[in-house]
Amino acid sequence: MNWLLFSVSSGQSWVNVPFAKETVRSIGLASSGGKYLNLMLIFRAFLLAFAIFFGAFQAMAEVRDVRIVGNGEPTRITIWTDTAQDPRAYMVEGASGLSVVLPLRGGASPRTGKGMGGVPDWSATASEVRFSLDRPLMVTRVLTLPPTGTATDHRVIIDLDTVSAARFASVAKRDMRQLAKATVALNDAGQRREVAAMRPGVGKNKYIIVVDAGHGGKDPGATAVTGKKEKDITLAAALQLKEMLEADGRYEVRLTRETDTFIELEDRVTLARNWGANLFISLHADAAANSQVSGASVYTISARGESRIDKEASKNDWEIPLEDGTSKSITGILKDLVKRETRTHSGEFAEFLLPELQQAGPVLRDTHKNAGFYVLLAPDVPAVLLELGFLTNRDDADRLQSRNGRHKSMQAVKRGIDRFFIQQEKLMADRSG
Ligand SMILES: [Zn+2]
Repeated sequence: MNWLLFSVSSGQSWVNVPFAKETVRSIGLASSGGKYLNLMLIFRAFLLAFAIFFGAFQAMAEVRDVRIVGNGEPTRITIWTDTAQDPRAYMVEGASGLSVVLPLRGGASPRTGKGMGGVPDWSATASEVRFSLDRPLMVTRVLTLPPTGTATDHRVIIDLDTVSAARFASVAKRDMRQLAKATVALNDAGQRREVAAMRPGVGKNKYIIVVDAGHGGKDPGATAVTGKKEKDITLAAALQLKEMLEADGRYEVRLTRETDTFIELEDRVTLARNWGANLFISLHADAAANSQVSGASVYTISARGESRIDKEASKNDWEIPLEDGTSKSITGILKDLVKRETRTHSGEFAEFLLPELQQAGPVLRDTHKNAGFYVLLAPDVPAVLLELGFLTNRDDADRLQSRNGRHKSMQAVKRGIDRFFIQQEKLMADRSG
């Protein structure tokens, strides 16, 4: 079966709902208020002056506080730092046991502290904060929150929950490779990145787009009339889309896979959530019994699929985090709002995407469909699944197999993404203005 998934997490909020504001800020997109921006600009200008004055710019980051709450089942770690950090924590299994690592932008002074539940202690070094675990705990969500009110601290929130030792090991295997890459990138490019981050529109204020190349490894997907496999076509398209999006300073792209590897569907969704995706795009190519059928199509979550969200969310620990102290009844309403907004934005993105795709090639009639695809199920990440065309159709297969043909399609996708976020920004401006 073939499916493409686009997931869009919007920068939308409901005014006067504190949780919603946090959500917006956590994805770093929303206009966070003129005052905050001005302060940031002044701060950045100051840092830039500092960097120029001293020639070599040394990034500084301090871990100001760490709090661990929970009994080892759901556990929440909150880290206060003076610098914005990436919303990504890694599960690590090594000689010293199990741990969760948050790489730091800028070097912190060494510190250690005690925790509770499944996280007995933590230590901060120049490059990371490491939380030791006394049992396997899965990172279910990482959120970053900029300073609120008069506070100056940035926060990173890491939610953990119990997981089997086998599952921990398999996630840790992948996480440790990614952590190594992330650490190298932060160290080698630290100075360059810090300076780059001071330019407006670059750095922390990027939209995070997660592009999911369908299938992979032992799961080849559909086979084209030409013999080519769907998993290879989706990967080539994903890599091209990443390149295109990253040429635009507004976007940061994460791929659920960069090679021909098999990744569980729930892991794709969990990755997107952990990365704080503003948009999740799953790429697939279709197959049909009738070789005449051709064209791209776009899927978003169906009402029926939506009812599965609750089930999957609790099964996979995709709880929507709410600020502590929220009462139960309000919690239910907020969660419902998040899901509804998510669904609306998926639909909006799909509607922006379709006319662009029509310019790039054939599109199935009535093509914006609602479906219950697993990858569309993250409750707080609006998602769209895109079928690039039919591999059983000769023209579609030729088009998707050629770099040029894919380029056209991915350009259309990029235009759709551009239009979607421009509209989001307009809506934000209207609401806050
Ligand atoms: Zn597929």
